Amino acid sequence: MSSTARPSATDLADLEKRLADRQQRLRGEIKAHLRGTGDEGVVGLSSVPAETDDWGVGDEMAARDIAEAHQLLSELADVEAALGRLRAGTYGECVDCGERIAPARLRAYPAATRCVACQGALEKREAGPPLTAV
Ligand SMILES: [Zn+2]
Repeated sequence: MSSTARPSATDLADLEKRLADRQQRLRGEIKAHLRGTGDEGVVGLSSVPAETDDWGVGDEMAARDIAEAHQLLSELADVEAALGRLRAGTYGECVDCGERIAPARLRAYPAATRCVACQGALEKREAGPPLTAV
């Protein structure tokens, strides 16, 4: 008995399909955010009211739009990286420690790049002060 079984071919085909679907959806959502501009750099400008002196409101809306678009873009990057690893045959390995990511985690989040332990450590690093600051 081994707890480090590779995902079966059927699992991988299913995951690849889910990742490809997610990629399509994300692309559509990002396109919707960029509608009318066609330029990632000016995303959000379409939500600035045309006739207003209140630029504060427009800026706030634009900032939220940009934050949303960035989130979508970063998820799309994860999904595309996962598809790349699937095709390269390295899918399911943690990018930090190289251990296999639990199949249950991959099913829940096919674009996962780290095992639960490394993801937890990363989130702690990002949330708190740097551990190296003494
Ligand atoms: Zn790891």
